[in-house]
Amino acid sequence: MQALRDGGLVILPTETVYGLAGNAADPVAVAAIFEAKGRPRFNPLISHVADLAMAETLAVFDDRARKLAEAFWPGPLTLVLPIAPDTAVCDLARAGLDTVALRIPAHPLARQLLVAFGGPVVAPSANRSGRPSPTIYADAMEETGDKVRAALDGGPCEIGLESTVVALLDAPRLLRPGSVTRAQIEALIGPLAEADADAKRSPGRLARHYSPRAPVRLEAMGAEPGEAYLAFGPGAHRWNLSPTGDLREAAARLFAYLREADRTDPSAIAVAPIPREGLGEAINDRLKRAAGFVG
Ligand code: AMP
Ligand code: MG
Repeated sequence: MQALRDGGLVILPTETVYGLAGNAADPVAVAAIFEAKGRPRFNPLISHVADLAMAETLAVFDDRARKLAEAFWPGPLTLVLPIAPDTAVCDLARAGLDTVALRIPAHPLARQLLVAFGGPVVAPSANRSGRPSPTIYADAMEETGDKVRAALDGGPCEIGLESTVVALLDAPRLLRPGSVTRAQIEALIGPLAEADADAKRSPGRLARHYSPRAPVRLEAMGAEPGEAYLAFGPGAHRWNLSPTGDLREAAARLFAYLREADRTDPSAIAVAPIPREGLGEAINDRLKRAAGFVG
């Protein structure tokens, strides 16, 4: 906590992935995050807050925003909203936009830190830009451990995929699929428009992202010689995302297995087909980007 006040960075576990946290109101701390990640500065960061009262000092909530916040906070949903007149989130954290991305995380360590700190904290995934997000402490330390003042070990992340991002500016838009599914959101606020036609609204949706060093081959029914294989469904494999075909389990293991497989220096990482419904939309989104295809 003192590390954050001093403008330092902290490795922070959340229920989605490990974050590289800094004071969202301090442009020097935010600049250090962009620098540590090698992240392009046009890609804005999510501000994490302790509670709805704090969120409402940073952004303007309409009825749709309140409904979603009530249903899914604390939890893996990020809302992009118009900024409040005196928002504490600095310009650099928002990449100069007049909107801000907000979330209340559910992980107890993250919440404790946010309550103690008492202000918004940006915490993009703790990986170097373009690499798979860290979902275990060791992977977070390997990526950016040398850039931080403090690091919190919260064990493996329960969800393992980054938060769902929804923009509520005009028509509600799904900017990034995640474990809060399209269907869950649409049940509360009606149809979601696609983000792809409007990539500038979420500059984070770059084609190549979440990528290991080895090329990634999708929809693979098995491995060619020299390839590592990420299986899904029954069968004995070194990396089986879920022998029982459970999408939650597959999401939680995805990034750690991509990293493990990558360390064996394969000619490629072949990944079994994953169903597209529900949480499968988010898993397939990350896989497509890991393989370098535009979404
Ligand atoms: P990360 O912090 O790396 O988990 O990524 C944050 C995601 O939210 C990226 O896809 C950003 O482009 C997106 N994002 C953050 N702030 C905004 C904003 N103000 N408008 C649109 N997208 C945003
Ligand atoms: Mg990221």
